Amino acid sequence: MNILTANSPTAELQARDAAHHMHPFTTNADLASKGARVITRAEGCWLTDSDGHRILDAMAGLWCVNVGYGRKELADAAARQMQELPYYNTFFQTTHVPALNLAAKLAELAPGDLNHVFFACSGSEANDTNLRLVRTYWQEKGQPERQVIISRWNGYHGSSVGSGSLGGMKGMHAQGGMPIPGIHHIDQPHWWAEGGDMTPEDFGLARAQELEKAILEIGQDKVAAFIAEPIQGAGGVIVPPETYWPEIQRIVDKYGILLIADEVICGFGRTGKWFGSQTLDIRPDIMTIAKGLSSGYQPIGGSIVSDEIAKVIDATEFNHGYTYSGHPVACAVALENLRILDEEGIVTRVRTETAPYLKEKFESLTDHPLVGEAKIVGMMGSLALTPNKETRAPFQAEAGTVGYITRERCFANNLIMRHVGDRMIISPPLVISRDEIDTLIDRARLSLDEAHAQIEKAGIK
Ligand code: PMP
Repeated sequence: MNILTANSPTAELQARDAAHHMHPFTTNADLASKGARVITRAEGCWLTDSDGHRILDAMAGLWCVNVGYGRKELADAAARQMQELPYYNTFFQTTHVPALNLAAKLAELAPGDLNHVFFACSGSEANDTNLRLVRTYWQEKGQPERQVIISRWNGYHGSSVGSGSLGGMKGMHAQGGMPIPGIHHIDQPHWWAEGGDMTPEDFGLARAQELEKAILEIGQDKVAAFIAEPIQGAGGVIVPPETYWPEIQRIVDKYGILLIADEVICGFGRTGKWFGSQTLDIRPDIMTIAKGLSSGYQPIGGSIVSDEIAKVIDATEFNHGYTYSGHPVACAVALENLRILDEEGIVTRVRTETAPYLKEKFESLTDHPLVGEAKIVGMMGSLALTPNKETRAPFQAEAGTVGYITRERCFANNLIMRHVGDRMIISPPLVISRDEIDTLIDRARLSLDEAHAQIEKAGIK
């Protein structure tokens, strides 16, 4: 077989991709007929495809390239580590320098007494760890009945059987025997879509109180933990009403239930602080991390747990772990990535400069006829598309039709913006500049205009 390169003709690359490569969350037959866009290079916030288009990546890959593309220091850290010690495990009474340093650095950055790290290779794996970890914790505490984990509809925690079960994506549950037993879903704090006539504040309280109802129904002594993203990402960048998290915190405290904050998207500066839990004032017992931990340069995730949980788990043998838990190359790259985020003041700049600028520009899109609301915290935001801003009505067309058309227009205008149903979402690299923010907003507005014209012409309501 001849090996194709980034300079091979697009048609050849697409044909080989279609013949052999199965893409995640994709109808591969449709993709094969359209041809995948082949991304060949990237620098800063910009991607280049095999046809030479320069595309502004307003999604930071999959919400992960926090320091932007093309950071040579990260490549160098990987090369150095590969030469020194490309692999060793951390099972059986061994450790290595990158893992111990990274764990200590994470303990330094994480809030409260979250001082202990169990490594995984992804967010999904880390949440699988959490599932077993919290159940084992209660077992070791002499409360083996506490096994149920409460999570939320339309939450996303990964794609493995465990993490996909924790998630509340019905389309995923319909395939492959999920959810596994012992997981109970409550409704999400999605005021725009589900708030009806309630004020956001009342709705936020009501949705948080569903947790208390579930605990009482299941039995306080049977519930192990509640898991949630501080701000739902894959569900559509759903920023909860301000009343939501304080009430959730009150409830988990009252019933002594462990709180797992899934920080896979919100972590590492995305919300303008190191962790979303700090922005939303939550006190988790466990945080799930991945993505921005290495800015996506290496696959790595983990669970950061409290002193109390570590004390209990450390007293027993936790029969769990992955070949690549704490992979030395991934840890070395993550450590260097955290140094960059820290020493270059990237998180602070997001909070004090670029995120406020982006917020102002992003919210100005609400004057567009298609846009009902613009929600944004730090560098994650969403636009609700609607035919009626007053009633917040959905389109009569199948959910996602208008979102998809808008995303296609963005694509055509060399802007990567994703749609979740009829919400358009962004999560750009944290290093995005003011000029690039202007470009992002200009291209988004142009794409919205074109989508609007297209749906009017097609009579989509
Ligand atoms: N949790 C959250 C909040 C996520 O957004 C994701 C990925 N989008 C995951 C977990 C799963 O992470 P991974 O894809 O690395 O397994």
